[in-house]
Amino acid sequence: GGTLYIVATPIGNLDDVSARAVAVLSGVSLIAAEDTRHSGRLLQALGVETRMTALHDHNERDRADGLLQKLEQGHDVALISDAGTPLISDPGFVLVREARRRGLKVSPVPGPSAIIAALCAAGLPTDRFAFEGFLPAKKGARLALLDHLSTQAATLVFYESPHRILDTVEDIVQAMGSTRELVIARELTKTFETFYAGPASEVLQALHDDPHGSRGEFVVMIHGAEKEAADAGMEEVDRLLKLLLTELP
Ligand code: SAM
Repeated sequence: GGTLYIVATPIGNLDDVSARAVAVLSGVSLIAAEDTRHSGRLLQALGVETRMTALHDHNERDRADGLLQKLEQGHDVALISDAGTPLISDPGFVLVREARRRGLKVSPVPGPSAIIAALCAAGLPTDRFAFEGFLPAKKGARLALLDHLSTQAATLVFYESPHRILDTVEDIVQAMGSTRELVIARELTKTFETFYAGPASEVLQALHDDPHGSRGEFVVMIHGAEKEAADAGMEEVDRLLKLLLTELP
């Protein structure tokens, strides 16, 4: 069979595309793209003339079958998304899972991804991080999830859209407190790349004060709970166990 290549494309700066990405995209028989018009512009800029087909959240199940057939017939196929790495809050899971199930070759062509770009420059601990994708759109569900995550020791990473960024930061202040350290990366690799960092309430103020503060694309990163806070639950269990033991005959 052919190989299914999962190819990362730029998240803003066209020069971030790898030489291997261009070679693979030129060499395959077919490129499955989230939005063929959007990716058409990228491929044109790169001088890639390979045929494209659409694979997005709404047709992935149907479209995957045809792509798997192509692969089984021996054709190489590349998957790209609108920006960054496919499958990272982007379509492709159904296709990759089924390709692996059928014993087909799946090979990554790594490159830009907003999570990694944001984390490596944020100045927050990166030894452990939890990527949580997009937060729920509804305020109640969002607050409940943030509250649930507030004792996590790992750095938390979210994607957020411009029309919800201010609400989300308000909810972080409410669920995790005004002093929790927050870093927001806006427009990574683009002309107006900006990092907002500090205690949550100050970051909220900085976003409010910046006329561009709710425009563009955002990665939200939250410092994990301090060890004492994360362990507070266990310390309480320890204390109660010791108390109970002293009461045992
Ligand atoms: N697959 C992509 C990746 O690997 O980064 C992510 C796709 S997801 C549908 C789009 C979200 O990624 C945006 O809403 C934003 O949160 C984040 N994002 C993408 N490009 C970005 C950029 N240049 N700066 C900041 N965030 C970005």
